[in-house]
Amino acid sequence: MKRLTGIVLALVIALSAVLPVFAQAEHNPATCTDVPVLVVRGMDFGGLYTDVGTEKQEAAIRVEAKAIVGAVFKGLFGSALTLSLDPTMKAVANLVSGIFEYIKMNPDGTSKHNTSAIEYPLAAQNYEAFCNGIDSEYGMIHSMIDEVGDHAYYFNYDWRIDPFVVADDINETVERMVKETGHDKINIACCSMGGVMTLAYLTEYGYDRVNRICFMSSTFCGGQVASDLLAGQLEIGDDTLFNIAYDATKDIPVVGFLMKALKFVGAFKLVSGLAGKITSKYLEPVNDEVLYPVFGGTLTFWALVQPEDRQPAIDFILKGKPESHPELYKKIQALWAMMDGRNELLYEMLDNGVQIAVVAHYDTPLIPVYEGASMNGDGILETYEMSGYATVAPYGKTLGDDYVAENPEYLSPDRVVDLSTAILPDHTYIIKGAPHVGGTYGTDYADFFVWLMTNDGEEFYAGVNPDYPRFMLSDDSQTLTAFN
Ligand SMILES: [Zn+2]
Repeated sequence: MKRLTGIVLALVIALSAVLPVFAQAEHNPATCTDVPVLVVRGMDFGGLYTDVGTEKQEAAIRVEAKAIVGAVFKGLFGSALTLSLDPTMKAVANLVSGIFEYIKMNPDGTSKHNTSAIEYPLAAQNYEAFCNGIDSEYGMIHSMIDEVGDHAYYFNYDWRIDPFVVADDINETVERMVKETGHDKINIACCSMGGVMTLAYLTEYGYDRVNRICFMSSTFCGGQVASDLLAGQLEIGDDTLFNIAYDATKDIPVVGFLMKALKFVGAFKLVSGLAGKITSKYLEPVNDEVLYPVFGGTLTFWALVQPEDRQPAIDFILKGKPESHPELYKKIQALWAMMDGRNELLYEMLDNGVQIAVVAHYDTPLIPVYEGASMNGDGILETYEMSGYATVAPYGKTLGDDYVAENPEYLSPDRVVDLSTAILPDHTYIIKGAPHVGGTYGTDYADFFVWLMTNDGEEFYAGVNPDYPRFMLSDDSQTLTAFN
């Protein structure tokens, strides 16, 4: 008996010595069918901190109710005394400037303060927040952890800095994934602002490591909201004001009716008329106190400026003198060159076997403070840019009964979106009613996202899977149905 125990013991010891070999054999990249997935998140306004990783770490955007009330009262009091709006506008500008102090940039496009974002270098499953994620990127990474386990990674970044600098960090992450998983290619899902960041990565480092890329509600073709902001095209339109007020209340029939009645009597025109007077008179001071110091050096926003808005943005933010900001302007020009080279790069990637999908949504009104806010969008960004330049009717309108699409297959059944003009029409999904960056965990949309990121089909064009046609509808719980 004793002898037998001794033999068993010896066997166990012998086995444990060779066990690491077995452990290694568990994952073989050559036979593993899970391609590692990188989720590149979007811009997180509240996701920046000062002194990250130290005891002093604090949210970069600091909103104190006391300061707001104090500033507003001071301004209103001054206005009452002087019978002028100037003191109020100045107080509000100072307040906004103060709230954004710690996200301000230097004139050369670097951070003014020790502000940055939290990084997540390990596989995503090592972080509790991702294992329990629900909405948007958090829901997406949760689904990816379920699907590919330790092959899922999450990329967070400081959204203010030069996309080409962020590209260096994306490259580092991609190379780390390659090293840790043993696979030599990965799939990338880039969400919202992650689109322009990933484009910078592809421009700078190429696509050797990329098997598949999905642009989800992304800025890979820029964004009208940033374009208008930097070009000084700020405006509170009566139609855009109505759109957002109506959309927010349409499920309450009485209020919805009231909104339409208010529109009928011109209430929205009155409000936008007043606001219009304020913005035109105070556009310069708003730029000097707020737009320039807060956003003027934010290279990310410069990257999103549309070609036709480039000169107006130089005129407005840089006061027509780009030579007075030599460092910044050099970086801006590099970003615009990247945007100009985007289509060619994407076509080249397709030719070389990289799989690409573009996903864009529509039918939610945009924030009514800029000229382009009358465009159709997903509540945050415009469908025109997110879809890679489809022809899109303004929010609440159609392209008309007489409209003829170059390719009728590319026209949405409600005649609102025509993909004929988009740069990748065969690779683009258009979903009516889905929110900006969908993918809430456990929904139909999450299933679509999982399919997009993990199916191993050789063909990868929009509609290749009959469950997910080119045009789809989403309800409030992100249940998807074919739109035909
Ligand atoms: Zn693997």
